[in-house]
Parts: sequence; structure tokens; C-alpha cells
Amino acid sequence: MRDALIVGAGPAGLSAAIAAAGSGNGMRITVLDEYPRAGGRLLGQLHQEPDGSWWNGIKEASQLMERALRDGVDIRTGVSVTGLERNGDEGWTVWTNEGLFQAKRLLLATGAAESAIPVPGWTLPGVMSIGAAQVMTNVQRVKVGNRGVVIGMNVLAMAIVSELRLAGIELAAIVLPPKNALSGHASDPNRVFNSLLRFAHMAPNPMFRWGASLIRPSWLQRLVVAGYPGSGLRIWDTPLQLRRSALEIVGTDSVEGVRVAKITPDGRVVAGSERFVEADFVCIAGGLYPLAELAAVAGCPFRYAPQLGGHIPLHAESMRTPLSRLYVAGNITGVESAKVAIAQGAVAGTAMALDDSGGASIALSAELERAISRVKQVRREAVIQFHPDIERFREQMYLEQGTILRYRIN
Ligand SMILES: Cc1cc2nc3c(=O)[nH]c(=O)nc-3n(C[C@H](O)[C@H](O)[C@H](O)COP(=O)(O)OP(=O)(O)OC[C@H]3O[C@@H](n4cnc5c(N)ncnc54)[C@H](O)[C@@H]3O)c2cc1C
Repeated sequence: MRDALIVGAGPAGLSAAIAAAGSGNGMRITVLDEYPRAGGRLLGQLHQEPDGSWWNGIKEASQLMERALRDGVDIRTGVSVTGLERNGDEGWTVWTNEGLFQAKRLLLATGAAESAIPVPGWTLPGVMSIGAAQVMTNVQRVKVGNRGVVIGMNVLAMAIVSELRLAGIELAAIVLPPKNALSGHASDPNRVFNSLLRFAHMAPNPMFRWGASLIRPSWLQRLVVAGYPGSGLRIWDTPLQLRRSALEIVGTDSVEGVRVAKITPDGRVVAGSERFVEADFVCIAGGLYPLAELAAVAGCPFRYAPQLGGHIPLHAESMRTPLSRLYVAGNITGVESAKVAIAQGAVAGTAMALDDSGGASIALSAELERAISRVKQVRREAVIQFHPDIERFREQMYLEQGTILRYRIN
């Protein structure tokens, strides 16, 4: 039987494997991932850091994979985990398309998934999620189209718009989704503007960054939204049209364009303001939520955490869950950047190694505390913050649990 099985070869899973394999316990570790290539969502990432250097996800993923392989980690791709079951206090059995796997400890690092916002016409060929456009562009190196429209404004959309522009793809506009039961705050210009200010530091134009830093009071934000130019403000050479909403994606056999209309500051369509924007592809950006179904199948208790993207498995700062020998790390615990996922993976891997030693290793206990502190530091310095108040919310959640879960040998 393996000492540890890790589901997900993204940054969290690979980093956990490296920490556990390098702990000196001689742990035998297998990492499973359903995608043909290890790296998870890292593979699609390409952005410039504040110091001017480039974050190249493909390179980061290769480095993590090489380190894991060097430490003897068994990485298997194309293996999809469909179910799991606890073997009393002995560990876990996992069901996959390649048969059963058993291990003393199980770490779930399955990442996040994209939320969908329905828009009339969204089944036409040429409509995709913004994350699919990222993968096609940066991983598969396929041009998604010649001229696109992005429906939805959030931090992920902004990051990927900059990547599409880097690849030379023209974007006609970024507009809001239509107001419907599922679009919620994403179709409200005031709410969206408030959230855009949180990642204005990513904007390429220094005037934009400086201006955004001044617009803090809510009355001033409402004033800016009320006077927002109808043609939008250009960001990465693309009009960010906060006061326009997509009504329908139009086309016969594939996307031909998007019908858009002006909207009031509270998101109501202005009658007679419709126009047609020509495009041959459309990206829908509905945001991310933690992909946590396997934790539910395991019977792990959950908590609703809108600040972290949705329902998350209950866990401690040590990444232990209340279930014996079950751990979580990365976006399954809340949507954050890849660097945070790497830091959380190191915590989970160290916790597994410490528990494997029966809690006896003073060196591993000290390393676990250091790894927990590192997560907080990385979180504070993260360029991409998916939600406000993540740190405060996590502190509160961990405090409510008390210290039992954090220090219990699992
Ligand atoms: C579409 C999208 C785009 C993103 N873009 C960015 C970005 O540009 N910048 C940024 O900082 N963050 C981005 N993120 C957030 C991103 O998830 C984190 O940065 C980071 O990759 C999270 O790491 P992780 O290891 O938790 O999960 P992931 O990187 O998502 O890795 C999880 C892995 O688990 C595997 N998996 C899931 N379920 C199963 C199963 N049942 N069986 C087997 N394998 C399974 C997946 O195939 C995947 O490889 C994006 C997320 C998404 C969903």
C-alpha cells in the first residue's frame, strides 16, 4: 500500500508531493491526474509580475514535476478519480478509470472550476468559457478566433484578456452579462466596478492604476459608474464597457456577433440602445468555484464561504480535514492564486509526513509551522486576489475550529 495518494497534479498536488517525498520519511507517493499532462491550471498562466519578471506557468509546472520525479514520486496522468471510500482507520481506497488505488493517506487537490452564466445563443460553435480560451491559447497554441467579445468582468477575465492580447487576438469589447437569475452581482455595474478596483493594480496604464487608487468612497464610485463613458475605457487596447450588457449571441452555424445594449447604473437595459458587435468568438467569464465533489463523496463536512468562491471542505490551517487521514490543499479550499496553492501544498505534504511519523518529528513540526506562515505571507503578496477579505475570513474560520484540528495527528 502507498503511504500517500494525491488527487490532482496541479501546483498544490505537486508541491505537496515534493514536501512529503522530501521529508526524509521515505514515503511512497502517487499523484493521479485526469489531464494528459501534469501542472493543472498552472499550464495556462502567463503574466507579468510587479517587478517586471514573467510568471510562465508552463515553466513553473515543469520545474515542480521535475523535482517531484527526482524525489521518486509516481505521477500518473490520464487517470480520472470517480469515487473513494475509507478503509476503517487504515486509509483510503480510490476508484479510477485505471482501477483501484489504496493509500494510508489521501490528499484532495482537485482545484477549481468555472461557473457558467447562461446567455441566449451560448450553444453556438465559437462560444467558450474564458478558461477554455486560456488553455487553447497558452497550452494548445490554437488561435481561438480573429475578433472576440468577452462577457463578464472579473479578475480571471482581466488576466486572460491580457494573455489573449499578448497572443495578438483582437477583442471587440468586454461587456457585462445579461441580468438573469444566475448572473447575480456580475450584471450590476456598481458591484462590478467596486470589484474591478481591487485588481486595478494589474492594469497596464499607470493613469488607470493611479485613478483607481483614488476612487475609494462608495459615493464616488457610484458617481464614476453614473458618468462612465458609453464607448468604455480602453484596457489592453480593448474597450471595457461597464455600462453595456450582452443580450444575445447571434449566428447561424457559428458566432457572428453579439447583440448588446446600454444599461443603467443598476443594470436595467436602456430601451432603443441596442447595437450589433461583430465577432467570430465569445468568451463567457462567470468566475470560479472550488471543485470539491470528491471531498463530499468522502463524507467531509463543508462550509459555505462566498469569500473563497463557494462551498469548501472544512479544514484546518495544517490542511487536515476532520476525517481521519484526509487532507485538502489548493483551490479546493478556496479560490486563490497559483502561488498560494503551491504554499498550501507544502503545508499539506509536511502535515502528511508529520502524521506518518506518528507526530514524533520535532523537525517536521517546526517545518509545518514555517510552511503555514509562508502561506500567509504569499497570500499577502499575491498579485491576483480572487476575492476581498480572504485572509480575514480564513483567520476567522480557523479560529472558530479552535486548535484541535490544527494539531491533531491525523
Ligand atoms: C480556468 C481557470 C483559469 C485560471 N487562471 C488563473 C490565472 O491566470 N492565474 C492564477 O493565479 N490562477 C488562475 N486560476 C486559479 C488556479 O486554479 C490556481 O492558480 C491554481 O492552479 C490552483 O492550483 P490547484 O493545484 O489547487 O488546482 P489546479 O491547478 O486546478 O489543479 C487541479 C488538478 O486536479 C485534476 N483533477 C480534478 N479533478 C480530478 C479527478 N476527479 N480525477 C483526477 N484528477 C482531477 C485536474 O485535472 C487538475 O490538473 C485559474 C483557474 C481556472 C479554473
